[in-house]
Amino acid sequence: MVAMSALHAPVLRWYDDHARELPWRGPEASAWSVMVSEFMLQQTPVARVLPVHEAWLRRWPTPADLAAESTGEAVRAWGRLGYPRRALRLHAAATVIAEQHDNQVPSAYADLIALPGVGDYTAAAIATFAHGRRHVVLDTNVRRVLGRAIGGVELPPASITKAEREEALAVLPADEPTAATWSVAVMELGALVCTASSPRCGDCPVADLCAWRAAGHPAYDGPPRKVQTWAGTDRQCRGRLLAVLRDSDGPVHRSRLDAAWSDEAQRARCVASLIADRLLVVAGPDTYALP
Ligand code: SF4
Repeated sequence: MVAMSALHAPVLRWYDDHARELPWRGPEASAWSVMVSEFMLQQTPVARVLPVHEAWLRRWPTPADLAAESTGEAVRAWGRLGYPRRALRLHAAATVIAEQHDNQVPSAYADLIALPGVGDYTAAAIATFAHGRRHVVLDTNVRRVLGRAIGGVELPPASITKAEREEALAVLPADEPTAATWSVAVMELGALVCTASSPRCGDCPVADLCAWRAAGHPAYDGPPRKVQTWAGTDRQCRGRLLAVLRDSDGPVHRSRLDAAWSDEAQRARCVASLIADRLLVVAGPDTYALP
């Protein structure tokens, strides 16, 4: 049996008082709303996700509504959230849900992870947050909080380790509803209080129990972390090119893409990769369109 951790009560109480009201939380949120939010939040902050999520749910209130549209419309509606392949994956997953799951987002982890574009984290998060199941949900916020409070280190390893998983499972409350609330509460604590660069230990409900704080906040001394750059990258170039397509009602001539990004070799490489990723199609001679 899982021992009730001393962290549970203060974290759950804190969440009760401080949780943000978000459209994909609360009893009235559909499982589809939760699923869409999990796809969007993977690499994009809450503030940028909110308006897109709202418009998405208004336009496509169920998976079948999205599945009935072209993938190009999904990419267009994805807007500036970044990493637009997520829109294609969400569309593909919605299609399978509509065709094989009676248009209902599955609740079993095994069914969720079998959906296209759904990995371990997303399957666990949907099962937990949409259906109240008990799973280890390890995102960057959760990993940071547990790494500090229990592990006594400033930052967790670059990628998830077996030891981390075991530790997270050991601290997961035994009953399903409490486990589900615990998972979202720890995530929220990491997002609002135990942030990456400036943790507010004075406002933290587990300050007295935190191993990293007790050790005097020793600095991270693991291998160097990769810093994500943006300016001048292919990711930025692809974003600019896709924005041209999204902002137009139909196919666009190559000259408009030329105007959006000056480095010719990089532009050509990015057009080719967008086509390979099925985010862009050739609509005619020197003309491109969303799929
Ligand atoms: S005491 Fe500080 S470092 Fe520890 S969990 Fe709370 S906010 Fe994070």
